Amino acid sequence: MEKRDAVAAGLMLPVMEAFYTIQGEGTFSGHPAYFIRLGGCDVGCVWCDVKDSWDAAKWPVLSIDEIVAGAKQYLGRKVVITGGEPLMYDLGPLTTLLKSEGFSTHIETSGAHPFSGDFDWVCFSPKKFKAPHPSIYEHANELKVVIYHQSDFDFAEKHAALVQNDCQLLLQPEWSKAATFTSKIIDYVKFHPNWKISLQTHKFMDIP
Ligand code: SF4
Repeated sequence: MEKRDAVAAGLMLPVMEAFYTIQGEGTFSGHPAYFIRLGGCDVGCVWCDVKDSWDAAKWPVLSIDEIVAGAKQYLGRKVVITGGEPLMYDLGPLTTLLKSEGFSTHIETSGAHPFSGDFDWVCFSPKKFKAPHPSIYEHANELKVVIYHQSDFDFAEKHAALVQNDCQLLLQPEWSKAATFTSKIIDYVKFHPNWKISLQTHKFMDIP
């Protein structure tokens, strides 16, 4: 099979980096996890801190067997698939293989492409720069909205109205704006107790 066809089938994927660390954000903050950062993103967030990921062609294309072998080197059994925008790819084959090897599968996605894959935890972090695909709303276990501008609170509520009732609702200050927005988020959550705060604790710990 041509490499391009294997990528289209989700049997090979461009991997920018993969590393074992501590999940710093969201509901699973503090848990050890193996991160697989896929290359390729067409969302274009102005504050993106992984702009190197945008061009998928820059990164090696690995088979899903090679990717899973990387995860198996470590003791932790949580895998977080991130990007880039991982839903640019069919994640069915990779997640099926991960689960067959005993991994719990998590994703961090903007939801900008049709949902695929078998996930135990879906962190949906919508972005203003490219609208989510409607398929994400029924799968999201966690809605994590990055607050970079005052209008992001309304943006957060708009998406909260579309997710399932049991979806966790999280507001997270964008790192460079934390001095401005952390106190506003604290006040907001006090008055809107269905929301919780998420902080990028890995940045405080100075780990990836
Ligand atoms: S969706 Fe993620 S990877 Fe893509 S531009 Fe936005 S922050 Fe960066």
